[in-house]
Amino acid sequence: MNKMKHFGMVIDQERCIGCEACSLACQIENNSTEFWIKVETQGGKEKDAPAGKYQDLTLTFLPKLCNHCLNPPCVDVCPVDALQKRDDGPVVLDQNICTGCKACIKACPYDVIIFNEKSNLAEKCNLCYHRSDKGLEPFCVVCCEGQAMYFGDLNDPTSIVSQLLLKRKNFQLKPEMGTNPSIYYLFPKLK
Ligand code: SF4
Repeated sequence: MNKMKHFGMVIDQERCIGCEACSLACQIENNSTEFWIKVETQGGKEKDAPAGKYQDLTLTFLPKLCNHCLNPPCVDVCPVDALQKRDDGPVVLDQNICTGCKACIKACPYDVIIFNEKSNLAEKCNLCYHRSDKGLEPFCVVCCEGQAMYFGDLNDPTSIVSQLLLKRKNFQLKPEMGTNPSIYYLFPKLK
């Protein structure tokens, strides 16, 4: 019997140039006024400034989105079951069911659920399941200028995401929370 798919993403900090094309692509694809992907700058103490000294400066970027956790606390707390964990990985928020109670926003350890003040509803990345159901990649992956984002089946050892995780040093965000994210980051090679 085939093992169930587990879709996830790998984001290469070596290649991310912080251009935010992913954030815009996501906004367009999902017809939202909000940003479901936010690109964080990791540098020196001052905002958006590099770390280190002249001729030895470093600046890296970290696109943050829903982690599509294997153990998602947002799903557990939603009183109306607007959030569901699909068998193939994505944690999906159904805005037709959401009542805007914000319980999920408080429960998520990653601060990636947005409250839309106009609609009074929660919003977040759904891993473009409407595209992967048709065999397409998430639109952020398609539009990434630095080709830093990869999408695929984490259960398939031959997939691009599994291969990258085998070859490169990687990390998940806040592993200590026990949520087991499906979004992985590859360290820039300088680390
Ligand atoms: Fe839920 Fe937050 Fe995990 Fe996404 S990152 S599945 S919103 S707990």
